[in-house]
Amino acid sequence: MGKLWIVGAGPGAVDLITVRGREVISRANAILYAGSLVSPQHLDFAPPGCETADSSSMTLDEMLQWLKERLGRLEHVVRLQTGDPSLYGALTELTTPLRRQGVEMEVIPGVSSAMASAAAAMESLTLPEVTQTVILTRTEGRTPMPEKEQLRHLAAHGATLCIFLSATLLEKVTWELYQAGWSQEQPVLVVHKATWPGEERIIRGRLADIAQSCREAGIGSQAMIITGPALNAAGRDDNPVSRLYADDFSHQFRTAG
Ligand code: SAH
Repeated sequence: MGKLWIVGAGPGAVDLITVRGREVISRANAILYAGSLVSPQHLDFAPPGCETADSSSMTLDEMLQWLKERLGRLEHVVRLQTGDPSLYGALTELTTPLRRQGVEMEVIPGVSSAMASAAAAMESLTLPEVTQTVILTRTEGRTPMPEKEQLRHLAAHGATLCIFLSATLLEKVTWELYQAGWSQEQPVLVVHKATWPGEERIIRGRLADIAQSCREAGIGSQAMIITGPALNAAGRDDNPVSRLYADDFSHQFRTAG
């Protein structure tokens, strides 16, 4: 039986996959890729004769059938997913039945869209003395959220929030953040299709106007919402600085001068 490689394709741009991920694609006998958010250009790096299929219209059962059939007769089978497979990637649903059948599997991490969106907007998600925590979450749409993870509860921490799968729910996001006491003036960043050549769009606003700005810009899906006290810090000159680089701070690699 073949081995299944579950590969994070990265956020969009074809050269943002890891070297290891590209290498696995170059040896693949079959690739099942999530065509709704993974560029088909990744398939150009597959060897001749590699079987490919887009999973975007498949059910989980259909995906499992497709993979099992190939694993029965081919050596290297790849499941290519968007961003990093551990985030909103249905990884466990896929691996559990295959593990039961004794399929050998390995996951190759990818650059998540949260990281790609921060990079696109040149934002630091952590800021000394301001926030040292990043919460990766989503709001409730058709998929319910555990009660303790309602956005208003998470937002009470005042940490940076990276909100996936919620670009169509910006009004709800805004309402939840107000419930947590966040101000109308709180900066919000929305990045649509981060790193996709020619398609990336960066919308900046405040809680008070971000939903309207995104609606006017026609942003409905494939967008990351980032907000929190670290946002827009590059424009301020009173930011606390990291102790790690301070003159009087000694550590393993440097003695205070
Ligand atoms: N595993 C993926 C997330 C999959 S869920 C990752 O690590 O990035 C899909 C959601 O991810 C989208 O609704 C959107 O919120 C976000 N997303 C995926 N690709 C994106 C991109 N290029 N730019 C901005 N957001 C993106």
